[in-house]
Amino acid sequence: MITGLVRDWRYLNHEMGPYHVESPARLEVIYRMIEEEPDLANLVLIEPREAKEDEIALIHYPSYIDRLKETKGKPRVILDPDTSTCALSYETALLAVGGVLEAARAIMEKRIDNAFALVRPPGHHAEASRAMGFCLFNNVAIAARWLRQQYGLERILIIDWDLHHGNGTQHAFYREKEVLYFSTHQFPYYPGTGSWEEVGEGEGLGFTFNVPLSPGKGDADFLFIFKEILGPIVDIYQPQFILVSAGFDIYSGDPLGGMMVTGVGFAALAGLLLEMARKICDSRLLLVLEGGYSLEGLRSGVKEILFQLSGLKEPPEIEPVISALTKKELEPAFKNLRQYWLKT
Ligand SMILES: [Zn+2]
Repeated sequence: MITGLVRDWRYLNHEMGPYHVESPARLEVIYRMIEEEPDLANLVLIEPREAKEDEIALIHYPSYIDRLKETKGKPRVILDPDTSTCALSYETALLAVGGVLEAARAIMEKRIDNAFALVRPPGHHAEASRAMGFCLFNNVAIAARWLRQQYGLERILIIDWDLHHGNGTQHAFYREKEVLYFSTHQFPYYPGTGSWEEVGEGEGLGFTFNVPLSPGKGDADFLFIFKEILGPIVDIYQPQFILVSAGFDIYSGDPLGGMMVTGVGFAALAGLLLEMARKICDSRLLLVLEGGYSLEGLRSGVKEILFQLSGLKEPPEIEPVISALTKKELEPAFKNLRQYWLKT
């Protein structure tokens, strides 16, 4: 497997103040880990570029793009209660989108098999018309629409395992069947969306799939959900490309979350997605960094995933065994699975 990496120190230029959890230190700890890990030295570096305005406009309104552009050079502009910009945020956000697009292009052109875009700011909360929840532009949503436009793909799967529901991504594709959005997230929790009743509308009915979860879910729970709920959907949908909103705030030690996923769990999840991608879409798999606020969680989670993507390690054996209580909690998701995917 040839694995691509988007890694550029300019992604540290965006900062939202000295006490903000979404800090440049998040990427710094990941980049240092990669530098110190000799086995990861042969990952292919993808050169990012600033995305063009018409690419951003695939998802965002021109008025919002202008609003963000106006923050250029200003030391601080407050966009929402927990999202702000500094003088370099606009360029950094363009570079984040452009890095994800270039990784997607490298995969489509078969220069690499899979990739991890280690970028910030994150994107999945960003709506068409506004910044939200530490997110400026919706990197993954733009990439999905760009893949449709550039390569004519008709079935793109977005998997979002971040602790938080990706409201921006869900809304972008709520009425479309060409992009399937599958999210696991703590619920009820920020941003409030993502109940199992949100299933898409019109043409997109059934193509939004939410698995809301109470806190405390660990490696086996996530593996179970990905195998038993996502698995059958993927088999039927046959995506041509898999994008992952990879958040590490489901890590057991994350300060914002209540989930219990470990480094081994991230490895197992990545191993499972690799297998799906290999079987169904020529291995096209692109992970994009979203949240994650434990530096140790980011360091170990990304490391384990990179070992999987590049084939350096075998996926760990984790029995996807869940408690009766969790099984009960997943009943609505299984109901949706039967209603929208397994109808006979
Ligand atoms: Zn998050």
